[in-house]
Amino acid sequence: MNLHPGHAHLRIEVGMKPGSKGRRILPVFFSALPFLLISGPRGLASIPPTHPRSPSIRVLLKTEVPEVLLSGLSLELHSAQRTVRFDGESAWRLRCERGRIRVRMGSSQYSVSDPVTVSSQAGLRWEGRAVREKLRIYTSRKGRGCELVNELDLEDYLVGVVNGEFSSRWHEESISAQIIAARTYAFHQLKRARSRLSHYDVEAGTGDQVYAGAESEDLRARELVRRTRGQVLVARNGPGAPIKAFYHSTCGGITEGADRVFGERAPGIAGGVRCRYCTTSPRYRWSFEVPAAELATLLGFRIRDLKVTARWESGRARSLEFSDVSGRLKRMPAAEFRHRIGAERLRSTAFEVTRLGSGAFRFEGRGNGHGVGMCQWGAKEMGEQGTHHVQILSHYYPASQIRRVW
Ligand SMILES: [Zn+2]
Repeated sequence: MNLHPGHAHLRIEVGMKPGSKGRRILPVFFSALPFLLISGPRGLASIPPTHPRSPSIRVLLKTEVPEVLLSGLSLELHSAQRTVRFDGESAWRLRCERGRIRVRMGSSQYSVSDPVTVSSQAGLRWEGRAVREKLRIYTSRKGRGCELVNELDLEDYLVGVVNGEFSSRWHEESISAQIIAARTYAFHQLKRARSRLSHYDVEAGTGDQVYAGAESEDLRARELVRRTRGQVLVARNGPGAPIKAFYHSTCGGITEGADRVFGERAPGIAGGVRCRYCTTSPRYRWSFEVPAAELATLLGFRIRDLKVTARWESGRARSLEFSDVSGRLKRMPAAEFRHRIGAERLRSTAFEVTRLGSGAFRFEGRGNGHGVGMCQWGAKEMGEQGTHHVQILSHYYPASQIRRVW
């Protein structure tokens, strides 16, 4: 299938046979040599870390929780007004209303202004699930109920990201690459949140990166996090700040620039990286159909036709044009259209669209996700082919290098 005839380089990727993957290893190795020399073990050791220890990260676990049930041994509840400690096992129920938090344990009850910080000497649990270090409870900034923020060591947080975003069963080089990307992204978001005086650094869901919690941790994930401890990606020739290390499920053949998807410059990230490794992804190619009536509901107007009027160099759709039933034309950026249809259905903006006889529209595309930064299925395959994690990172983030920051 030739999706985008206007882009010769993309045709090569699309036509690639899985059996030809191995030939890529040698060029990648040589192109990664400068990266290895700068970032390899000796290079890392020669530059002292910039931070004495790993920072704590504040992870927004959930919002609008009607009641928070906390339990554990030697729990301590701390607020601006009072600190309560219970030696032995106890369970506490917290409810949040209009800036106040009502705390109840057995028959005793009190009310304090938010936030409340809860910690335990041994084993804090929320709804029976283990939670690391501290939970800070706020009254929801939007809507009702409580907002839960888990404060924990950033390295421990990464152990809980491994089985949320990928899997500790993958090849260790693939996981190491993923961990360094996830650490870099988390550290970038942390710095940004602190400069904005936000009360949390990252969300636990897909808005940032999926933190599956303390109960998802396993020994393999912990060991691989330990091996790359403190290593982040920084922009080559930059001031040494962590890059916003975007990554996504499946690029489908070529990555995209951050400015084209998010409208923001991301130093150290370059689009246009070719990838022939993600062909094993179940979303390498996809298609789906939407009835015209459903499209009208999602868009707010009935359409007669829909076409892609502009594409980026990668072949991804840039803008779309709709003609409604009275012949009027409307335009919309492809990224916005994807958001309206639902990112889990319109898997990427690399698609062709055709109108069927029934009036429905058929989308045929490649890849899954925004396409910026590292392709996770590509990194998985590269690791399985025996590629070192530093080479995997240099392939997907060619404008960056690794630095140890703690
Ligand atoms: Zn890919």
